[in-house]
Amino acid sequence: MNEVLNENGFPFRGQGGIYLDYNATTPCDPRVVDAMLPYFYEHPGNPASRTHAIGWRADEAVKKARKQIAHLTKVEAHEIIFTSGATESNNFALKGIYESYQHKGNHIITLTTEHKAVLDPLKKLETLGAEVTYLDVEPDGMVDLQKLENAITSQTLLIATMWANNETGVIQNMKAIGELCNQKNILLFSDATQAVGKIQTHPKELGVQLMSFSAHKMYGPKGVGALYVAHQDPKIKLAEQMNGGGHERGNRSGTLNVPGIVGFGKAAEIAQQEMEVDSARLQQLRDKFENTLLQQLELTSINGHSKNRLAHTCNMSFKFIDGEALMNTFNQRLAVASGSACTSASIEPSHVLLGMGLSKHLAQASLRFSLGKFTTEAEIDEAAAIIIANVNHQRALSPIWEMYKDGVDVEGLI
Ligand code: PMP
Repeated sequence: MNEVLNENGFPFRGQGGIYLDYNATTPCDPRVVDAMLPYFYEHPGNPASRTHAIGWRADEAVKKARKQIAHLTKVEAHEIIFTSGATESNNFALKGIYESYQHKGNHIITLTTEHKAVLDPLKKLETLGAEVTYLDVEPDGMVDLQKLENAITSQTLLIATMWANNETGVIQNMKAIGELCNQKNILLFSDATQAVGKIQTHPKELGVQLMSFSAHKMYGPKGVGALYVAHQDPKIKLAEQMNGGGHERGNRSGTLNVPGIVGFGKAAEIAQQEMEVDSARLQQLRDKFENTLLQQLELTSINGHSKNRLAHTCNMSFKFIDGEALMNTFNQRLAVASGSACTSASIEPSHVLLGMGLSKHLAQASLRFSLGKFTTEAEIDEAAAIIIANVNHQRALSPIWEMYKDGVDVEGLI
């Protein structure tokens, strides 16, 4: 690979400026790419081919990856179902459970701050008769456990709460939610796409029966993910959503993406060894970045819980600034996000920030900065300097800012 290397020997800065959008996707770790390469040409087998060694070889590679992923999440290898990514895993979990168990109850509880890959399948289920309660979270992004408990009815089949939020990094108290579900005999599903490989995610220990995640958020390749389904008695039955050759023990048909799965496995192995150290380093960088901006820019605030937050994620509001306009002033020197990447084509304010109770203005004045293991201190320092200069410049051009500085009460004007 022909790239510029940073001080850690890792790829550094692509064509698009300083990359601070790791929550949208991570670059593949070069060690992951190396692990995958032989499975494109040298070992091209289909793991479902039982009649020859080339198929067996592919099957062994998939088995190894399944173990690596199971090891990271402390589950059994046979509890992992490979999919094309977290969107598919979420659809499979939600639709699969509803289809199998709607006779027992048609009520599902979720959070308004979930990813669209949870909210949209739930909207679809509503058209099929599901009753869905969407709970707003507290201003710090955490769900109020009492409100969650109060929302439970005799019809509640499933609670779907994400492990860590993609926009703010807020980490839900999965242990307490697991205990509540266990007491009430309700299934618990968690979209852990942003959490797996970044913090410990051990669903079995916490009573989470279904958990989705994706390789490309943890330095693996795009287009491969997994759904964990607890093996328990009575068995959790998921109506399969992809019918075909009965792959993945009849759960999800389709020839397995062997190179992708091998890369996913390698990424899980690396995460297990390195995530603690990476996370500690990123927390220092992220805190330095946040403190610099907070100190040098007035009316700037952080969105999300002060402690229960992914170490590499920073969501900030810059009052009197339009986030989209600010991003444009970066002139491609910084790759950052406003709202979630998947909805950034729309100019609607982030549903996550609104769900936390931010005003429309503040939600629109917010940007997400997500760091990753290839981020360097020099990049963080440069990014902070660019942001400070541009926020100051934008504000200097704003009549509202001028009025605010003159002591006029402008709250009604924004
Ligand atoms: N859930 C969350 C929380 C995410 O951040 C994402 C990716 N933006 C997804 C689901 C969808 O994952 P994938 O890209 O693997 O389909």
